[in-house]
Amino acid sequence: DDVLHLEGIRKSYGSGDLETEILHGIDLRLQRGEFAALIGPSGSGKSTLLNLIGLLDRPTSGKLEIDGEDIARLDDAELTRLRGKRIGFVFQHHNLIPAFTAEENVAMPMLVARGRPEREMFETAARLLGQVGLGERRRHLANRLSGGQQQRVAIARALAMNPALVLADEPTGNLDTHSADEVFNLLRDFNRQQATTFLIVTHDPRLAARCDRIIELIDGCIDSDRQAT
Ligand code: ADP
Ligand code: ADP
Repeated sequence: DDVLHLEGIRKSYGSGDLETEILHGIDLRLQRGEFAALIGPSGSGKSTLLNLIGLLDRPTSGKLEIDGEDIARLDDAELTRLRGKRIGFVFQHHNLIPAFTAEENVAMPMLVARGRPEREMFETAARLLGQVGLGERRRHLANRLSGGQQQRVAIARALAMNPALVLADEPTGNLDTHSADEVFNLLRDFNRQQATTFLIVTHDPRLAARCDRIIELIDGCIDSDRQAT
């Protein structure tokens, strides 16, 4: 049961004489419930790969399936809809709306998607904020929360649509060791409780070692792909 299936994925930027290939044929499968780290030196193509998997950009060639859906068949509007329904994002910079409350930030993806009564959306937001330990602070403005708390709100927001796959780009990059551990443990809890699949870009070998699987990208190729010990 693959949540993600990449076959021969290539990505180039520029055109003509200036065309540069960044990803040179990536094959990768992620099964439902996997908790994988994506590591590799700066410039190796991690963000580029994450952008493709997150449906923010299209590959130059190769096959990309999310939840069995071949993205080559989808137009841009369908791609946006699939992204909203199936993929959650956590970034290093949490991208919360500072003047909105924690609860409003978490409800935002549901409000954008519509289709449910607002009361239910806010109930879901409150439940998720409870799960990340911020139930009492759900009415606080995002910009009044600490960095670690803001990242926990961002995690709750990423899970609001109950995505099949969560992509996290250096989710603990800005945090001190203690907050980084807390945030990492939360991702782990969601993974275990809801069988949500995670792909986490990290420079921190300590955190990578705590994932089930470590995928290493070097110069636009998968250099190694191993179970963590
Ligand atoms: P990272 O911290 O992951 O190494 P970078 O600083 O390399 O990230 O890149 C940050 C963002 O800028 C990425 O989304 C990447 O796609 C984009 N980017 C990086 N290099 C270039 C470039 N030469 N031209 C345009 N965009 C770039
Ligand atoms: P990483 O995340 O591993 O640091 P990136 O995917 O950000 O690597 O970048 C890989 C390479 O692709 C870098 O050489 C970067 O400069 C280049 N790159 C990334 N995005 C763009 C872009 N939009 N246009 C041109 N070059 C890019």
